[in-house]
Order: sequence, then C-alpha cells, then structure tokens
Amino acid sequence: MIDAIALAQALIRRPSVTPADAGALDVLQAALEELGFACRRLPFGEVDNLYARLGGGAPNFCFAGHTDVVPPGEGWRHAPFEGVIENGTLYGRGAADMKSAIAAFVAAAARVGKANGSISLLITGDEEGIGVNGTRKVLGWLKEKGERLDHCLVGEPTATARAGDTIKIGRRGSLNVELAAVGIQGHVGYPARAKNPIPPLALLVTRLSARRLDDGSAHFDPSTLCFTTIDVGNPATNVIPGEARARLNIRFNDRHTPESLIAWIEDEAAKVVTETGAEISVTPQVSGVSFLTAPGAFTTLVADAVRGVTGVDPQFSTSGGTSDARFIKDFCPVLELGLAGATMHKVDECVKVAEVNALADIYTAILRAYFENPPQEGQ
Ligand SMILES: [Zn+2]
Repeated sequence: MIDAIALAQALIRRPSVTPADAGALDVLQAALEELGFACRRLPFGEVDNLYARLGGGAPNFCFAGHTDVVPPGEGWRHAPFEGVIENGTLYGRGAADMKSAIAAFVAAAARVGKANGSISLLITGDEEGIGVNGTRKVLGWLKEKGERLDHCLVGEPTATARAGDTIKIGRRGSLNVELAAVGIQGHVGYPARAKNPIPPLALLVTRLSARRLDDGSAHFDPSTLCFTTIDVGNPATNVIPGEARARLNIRFNDRHTPESLIAWIEDEAAKVVTETGAEISVTPQVSGVSFLTAPGAFTTLVADAVRGVTGVDPQFSTSGGTSDARFIKDFCPVLELGLAGATMHKVDECVKVAEVNALADIYTAILRAYFENPPQEGQ
C-alpha cells in the first residue's frame, strides 16, 4: 500500500523547480513500479516526463499532472523542500500545486489495483514553465504509439476550500496581442513635419476596450479584454516619438476562437490606419484555446464520487487561468479536480493532511465507479 502523505513528502523533498526534475520523477516511478505500472520516461529538451500504465485493456483512465514547481521565494516558516508537517498541515513548495494530488492518485491506484481496463499517469516536468516540452509532446508521442486515453482527470488545485468542492469542466482561452503604431519622429514645435503615432494608438486602444466581447455562455463567464501596457519610452518633452506600442490580453470563452478575435483586432486596426494614416502592426500570440467538457456521463460520475466521499455537491466551474487540459482536450474528455489552491505559488504553500487523504478517497471512488460503469463515448 502507498501512503499518500509519505509519498507527497518524498516528492516535496525533491526541489524540482522548473525545468529541473531533481529526482522527483524517480521517486514517483519507483512507487508506481512497485504497484506494477509499466513506466516510460519521455525526455524532451531539458524536460523530463513520465507516462505510466497499469494494465493493457480499455478503457484507459488517465491522471495528468506535473512534478515541477515554481521557485520558492524567501521567508518560509519551514524550509520549502523539507515537507514538514505541523499541526496536521503539510508545508512545502508543491504541497498544493500539485505533488500531494499526484501522491493521492497513486494511493488511490494502489487501492484499486488491476482494474477492468487501464489506469495511467501522464506526468510532466514542464507545466510551470513554457509548456513546450511537456504534456503537448508526450501526447504527440502517445498518438504516434497508438496509445489511447479514454478519459482524463487533471489534478490541479481546483478547490476553493475543501478537496473536491470544485470541478473544472473547462477553462477560458488566452490570447496576447502586441500593437505597434509607427509614425514619423519630429520636433513638437513643427508637428506638421512629423507623424505622431500616439493618438492613433490611443484611438485603437479605446475602441478595442469599448467592445463588450459577449455576455458569457452556458458554462462560461463573459470574455474579457485588458490592456496591460502602453509604451512610448520617450524621455524628451520636445520630441514627437516615432513609435508607440501597447499590449493586451484576452481571456475568451467558447463563443470565440483565437482566429475570430485576431481578425476583429486586425479589422479595427485597419480602420484606424485608414482614418489616421498611421502604420499599425498587430502581432498575436495564442497561449491557449478554451476547452469545455460539457456536463454529461463523465462529469456526473465524478460529481457523484465526490458527493459520496465528502457529502457535498461539487460546483462545476470554468474560471481561472489555463492548464495542460488545453492540450488534453484534443484527445479525450478532460476534467480537473484537486486540492484547495489558496496557497499555490505563495510562500508557506501548504495543505491539510486530512485534505490529501480525502482527495485520495475521492480519486479511489472515481476509479471504482469508472471501471464499474465506464462513461460512453462522447462523454
Ligand atoms: Zn499546477
């Protein structure tokens, strides 16, 4: 049997600050091999990843997560990589996000054992970093090998107060755009000889900000657009600058695609160009599309399992930033369910020991229900 707390401590004691692994995946692999999992390490670039599978049959239930953590920062009451337990609380970088959830899942897999199908884990060392050599590449490798995932649960810290109180059924997408307006630099006393890029850029900023993108959708809050900076960098009081830049971020729901948003911004920019004669370039960078696993058999199964353990009806949510579920959704239905995230990325990151054990119970209940009555295709 696997003790979730002892395994969580062992993982926290490996200082796996992105992209370093520091032996964290070795700890995990050893625990999984003891349970009979076939483990495959998948290094890409400087990042190490692990795919482990118990059993060869279908359906294949996959747990996805990451062993990498963000840097600890200063001022911890307990050393960030010691895994100290004080008054029933486990402290350490990764305690909430998300080494304890991985440990809880391994403990659940140990209890369920060889199932009517397969249990697998897709664990990356590159979730907190740029996300290039992690989940996305592992999924590509799985596809190449004909390895099928039927349903996936991501163990990110989704809870607001208690383990299991919130299930993320989707996330909004994220789009960054840089706008650069180019004019002609000149003397403020002779503005006719120059072309000031600031007013056209300001006009575009105002118009883009003025649009209400949508009123939300069945499962999502309204999309939002925020300008994060306007930069001219002009130290002189008597010079019209030659260039001005602005950056914005859009968090968008399932009523938009990156393409539709980029086309709208380019269109608005083209109008300002026509009206003002300024040159404006639009440089988009898509950091994630939205995903949604609509309520159905899979969400019901997971919600029922949570209620059976905690007695509380979980909330379905699509709030928050992006996660690796944005890649997994192209392969199978995916949900996110984990511990409370209040201390994630903070100094004194911690989680209650009882919560980790509760999460192990929840994961156990999910696995048992899943293999007893797998949700049908499409859900
Ligand atoms: Zn995380």
